[in-house]
Order: sequence, then structure tokens, then C-alpha cells
Amino acid sequence: MGVSSKLGNLGVVTTTLDAAVNWGRTGAMWPLLFGLACCAIEYMGTQSSSYDLSRFGMELNRASPRQADLLIVSGRLTRKMAPVVRQLYDQMASPKWVISMGDCASCGGVYNNYAVVQGCDEIIPVDVYVAGCPPRPEQLLHGILTLHEKIKGESIRTWADDDKWNNKSEMAIHV
Ligand code: SF4
Repeated sequence: MGVSSKLGNLGVVTTTLDAAVNWGRTGAMWPLLFGLACCAIEYMGTQSSSYDLSRFGMELNRASPRQADLLIVSGRLTRKMAPVVRQLYDQMASPKWVISMGDCASCGGVYNNYAVVQGCDEIIPVDVYVAGCPPRPEQLLHGILTLHEKIKGESIRTWADDDKWNNKSEMAIHV
């Protein structure tokens, strides 16, 4: 390594606005401080130093939905809780994304009964599903990286028009 490279002269770097914005978004997502059931314990484990979510800029869980852009639905979603989750989602900053963590959140899991929503995608749009009962932290990390790949394919031109991010989703809550 020569002296000149240590002086910070990087020459010319070109990129697209989409790539730059998506790089920022995937490097600093702020998840909502939120959990529903046993899967949330694994989510908390994922936040531990062993798995180090800080490397993705995700060490801060926001206690307010207005400061969060990622909702990780971790655990079974009861019909009683469904309107609350929908309200939290609506209050989140746009653009925003959702990970459905675990079998219960994704399809009701073992709770095939009238009290549990058979998949949180009945009430909010889901970007990535993570299978398992519960998923291990490695699986959640894989889900987060899968979401990053999806975001890298998004364009800022679509954000303003997308109904999902403008809270115009037609999803109804049947409670
Ligand atoms: S998927 Fe398993 S661990 Fe997760 S909330 Fe359901 S029963 Fe609990």
C-alpha cells in the first residue's frame, strides 16, 4: 500500500441514486421494539453480541413505530392483537418492510383455531417469511439478508406510487 492511497484519494466513484439510497437503507434499518410470543425470545437472542446485528446498523430497536422502518412479527398473532399490529404498521415511517418470523406468524403454526390469525399477511403486507418453530437467530439473519437483497432491487421512483407504503393497502382486518 503506497502513501498516496492512505491520503484518501479515491479518484472518481460513480453510482446510481437508487444504489446509493438502497445502500443507506440496508445499512441502517431501525426495527420496531416489538414481540408477540416465544419467537421474540429468539429475536432477542439475535440482538445479542454473539450474532451482532450492529454490523447491519440494526442495534437500536425503536420504541416508537414512527421511528422504525422494519417490523419483525415474532410470534403468534391473535385476532385480539391484530388491530394493534395493523395500527403499529400504519404508524411506521415509509418506506417500511415486514419480516414474518416463525411458523405462527406466517401461517398460524400449530394454532389452527379461531383465536389466531392464520398468517400476519392477512392484515399487513409481508416482504420475507422465516420458517421454523422457533427460527434460530441464524435463520432470522438469513431473512434479514434476504430482505436486503429485495430492497437493493427497489427503486425510489416506485416509492411514491406504491400503495403499500402509502397505507392504501386494501387488507381488511376480520376480527
Ligand atoms: S413458531 Fe413456535 S416458537 Fe414461534 S411463536 Fe409459534 S409456537 Fe412459539
